[in-house]
Amino acid sequence: MNNYLKAVKENVCSICVDSNDKGICTLNSNESCAVEIYLPQIVELIHKNENEKLSDIQKKLKETICVECETQSESGVCYLREDANCSLDRYFSLIVETINRVDNGLT
Ligand code: SF4
Ligand code: SF4
Repeated sequence: MNNYLKAVKENVCSICVDSNDKGICTLNSNESCAVEIYLPQIVELIHKNENEKLSDIQKKLKETICVECETQSESGVCYLREDANCSLDRYFSLIVETINRVDNGLT
């Protein structure tokens, strides 16, 4: 999992709006990032659905990971997603691309 985390930091955190100009996360100790919390589940989801369209993988993300996330309400609404403020949702295509690059030995 360390190679995936390293690649995510290099490719996703580096461009995330919540990182500084060195790509270091600026979230405080009271905040958490779903990309880090759920990375093993994200990698598993991408591997299980490697031949699916991105939109279908993103739908499964909501059905498997978002339902577990405390930020989402029982009715399925997530205020962070609504505000484009969840890095997992915001950068999902880049995350999928990054995981695929690790799997193909490209990063
Ligand atoms: S919020 Fe998440 S994706 Fe963004 S810099 Fe922090 S750990 Fe990386
Ligand atoms: S979109 Fe919302 S429910 Fe889904 S992982 Fe992000 S914060 Fe959690």
